[in-house]
Amino acid sequence: MTATLYMDYAASTPVDPAVAKAMADVLAGEAGTGNPAATHWAGQAAGQVVEQARVRVAALIGASPGEIVFTSGATEADNLAVIGAARFRRQLGRHIVTTLIEHPAVLESCRALEAEGFEVSYLPPDNQGILAAELVAAALRPDTILVSVAHVNNELGVVQPVAAIGEVCRRHGALLHVDAAQSAGRLPVDVRAQCIDLLALSAHKMYGPKGVGALFLDRERCRRVEPLFHGGGQERGLRPGTLPTHQLAGLGVAAELALQRLDSDVPAILALRERLEQGLLQVPGVQLNGHVTQRSCHIVNVSVDGVEGESLRCGLRDIALSSGSACAAESGEPSPVLRTLGRPDHVAQASLRFSLGRTSTMADVEASVAAFTATVARLRALAPA
Ligand SMILES: *Cc1c(COP(=O)(O)O)cnc(C)c1O
Repeated sequence: MTATLYMDYAASTPVDPAVAKAMADVLAGEAGTGNPAATHWAGQAAGQVVEQARVRVAALIGASPGEIVFTSGATEADNLAVIGAARFRRQLGRHIVTTLIEHPAVLESCRALEAEGFEVSYLPPDNQGILAAELVAAALRPDTILVSVAHVNNELGVVQPVAAIGEVCRRHGALLHVDAAQSAGRLPVDVRAQCIDLLALSAHKMYGPKGVGALFLDRERCRRVEPLFHGGGQERGLRPGTLPTHQLAGLGVAAELALQRLDSDVPAILALRERLEQGLLQVPGVQLNGHVTQRSCHIVNVSVDGVEGESLRCGLRDIALSSGSACAAESGEPSPVLRTLGRPDHVAQASLRFSLGRTSTMADVEASVAAFTATVARLRALAPA
């Protein structure tokens, strides 16, 4: 029974049946034949699919279709935003501001820029994972060209005050890039109201297919970035390569569904999260990581005192969940994000991220709470602290 428990929606989500159907229809039809760049009838059929997806993705974030560039996912969109914007604006300055808890797609892009002579300030959030806009304001320098902050942190689920950070950036003149891979479809995102200049999102975090995503570039403030790929003129030359028509059909439908379902999905997932959180925190020595209220509906990250992380994960291996982030999971190292929050290593390594989604049920939650409670009790009985 527990073998089918999926509690890892922050790592990836199931493909919505309507998305799968849209993709299959494209693959089987004439839009699947033509190259969207071709001007003949088959190309036009493919091009229509692409442009419909562009309209739908733009609508999800309050942008115009012409401001959307399709990529292979949020990793590529983050790379294109951070590296592309920095390289394009290097004459204006070489300083970038980000946080210590960003996704590797942003952190490693910043590291790559450091090797090119850029300087990066990695700001520490507070011990609840929140980055105050004042901290960003204090870090800005005359040569700061870019600020990069995730809207929702993928490990903790904390929501950053992006609109306030955006205002700070506007006053200064620096661009704001927001990684919205976790927030698109889970929180309202409005690039204008939130003063966002660049924004990355990923289809597979919102019930679309893996391997496709998008970058928004504000038409007034950030028309161009330095492309990472070289080839044909697709996507205004910013991301050359034949567009994956069926993937984009899937992304488009996923974006449309995300917008339509936001008002019903969020309260439903939140109710599940509240019960999950209450159940997990009822176990003595369990601590919530991240801000209590300033948090997305879908993530609960807890640390467990007095148990060994590997034994805990092993005891719960029938539940698909994550120890921090999927990316840190392989190394077995304590999560750098939890370290940044000031959690001691022995506590940080016994941490779990449960994440919920559209297809989660209260039965999943109850089974997870029961398995967690029993496993922690069993481990503590084996090796009393
Ligand atoms: C999943 C995720 C990414 C990477 O997205 P892909 O489409 O898998 O490349 C980037 N940033 C955050 C915050 C994520 O959660």
